[in-house]
Amino acid sequence: MDCLFCAIIEGTIPSKKAYEDDKMLAFYDINPQAPVHILVIPKKHIASVDEVNSENSDIIAAIFEKIPEIAKTAGITNGYRVVSNCGDDACQTVKHLHFHILGGKPLAGEMA
Ligand code: 5GP
Ligand code: ZN
Repeated sequence: MDCLFCAIIEGTIPSKKAYEDDKMLAFYDINPQAPVHILVIPKKHIASVDEVNSENSDIIAAIFEKIPEIAKTAGITNGYRVVSNCGDDACQTVKHLHFHILGGKPLAGEMA
């Protein structure tokens, strides 16, 4: 399977890591849309939110348990947005589930 984020997990494509454990990797987005822009991805390949189910949702729970620590460690002090684009209308460009953490400035009030 040819997956950019699986290659980042394997280390064949370098990334600036923010956090890593056995279930997930967090790394800085190459094209940041806010002063802090981190992507959190499961190490297991899950294509999108559409593929979350009872077999893999423990990984999603672990990611959300860790997001506050990742945001705090990255220096976010005044709130942040967590976004996951799913499918074409949402402009999902990488078909490996990822959660954007955006913060470090007042974000736009509108999301779409
Ligand atoms: P999506 O548009 O699928 O929600 O988000 C994909 C994100 O991955 C984009 O914000 C894009 O900037 C980021 N991205 C794409 N390629 C790379 C890469 O090679 N390295 C890193 N760190 N981020 C990437
Ligand atoms: Zn993948």
